Amino acid sequence: MTFRATVLTLYPEMFPGPLGVSLAGRALERGDALVETLQIRDFSVGRNRMVDDTPSGGGAGMVLRADVLARAVDHASPDDDARPRLLMSPRGRPLTQAFVRQLADGPGATIVCGRFEGVDERVIGGRGLIEVSIGDYILSGGEMAALVLLDAVIRLLPGVMGNAQSGETESFETGLLEHPHYTRPAEWEGRTIPPVLTSGDHGAVARWRKAEAERITRERRPDLLGLALKP
Ligand code: SAH
Repeated sequence: MTFRATVLTLYPEMFPGPLGVSLAGRALERGDALVETLQIRDFSVGRNRMVDDTPSGGGAGMVLRADVLARAVDHASPDDDARPRLLMSPRGRPLTQAFVRQLADGPGATIVCGRFEGVDERVIGGRGLIEVSIGDYILSGGEMAALVLLDAVIRLLPGVMGNAQSGETESFETGLLEHPHYTRPAEWEGRTIPPVLTSGDHGAVARWRKAEAERITRERRPDLLGLALKP
């Protein structure tokens, strides 16, 4: 099954962008994933092709119109489309590895990229858009957030990662941050590799990695262990 993403955007030229290289690039080339774009402006109204308007109640900026966006969503994602409809939004549910995995196991997604102040609230409810945030900061548009989400999903698709195992011990997959990595040379600027890693004792290596993952998670992200973050 091909994972199919339809991205609704005012800037389709931003896609596939960085998804065109390396792992994701090869996945797109092989057809394991499909990233298509839909220009929101093609669903605009009037001769001046308006897609946005001033916020009701006043204030700075512009708001993407519900009618224009809904027409684009309906075109991309008809009623019988099983793919979830996502809206990139700083108010959304935080993007987690668990959610990324859930998306990668599914048929794809329709992804709406906001711009300006955001989108008219009515289209979110009216079209059942699931708001997804990539972090607690404000981007100028949803496109880069969509690229982040798609990159995270595409690398999990079957056959995309060279070594299938390398996904499993990664940060967040185990509920922990990952252990440190080393490679040759054995000594670099006076720094050596922990001897256990070159001991050939696979059990000892596994125990060391687990202990390191736990230590680093405790130090940096106690919240992942259900502990409070230091203020
Ligand atoms: N006025 C809004 C921010 C609008 S930013 C607010 O204060 O909440 C413009 C667009 O960028 C948003 O509609 C959204 O699509 C995208 N965006 C900005 N920050 C984002 C984030 N952290 N995660 C996902 N999308 C984001």
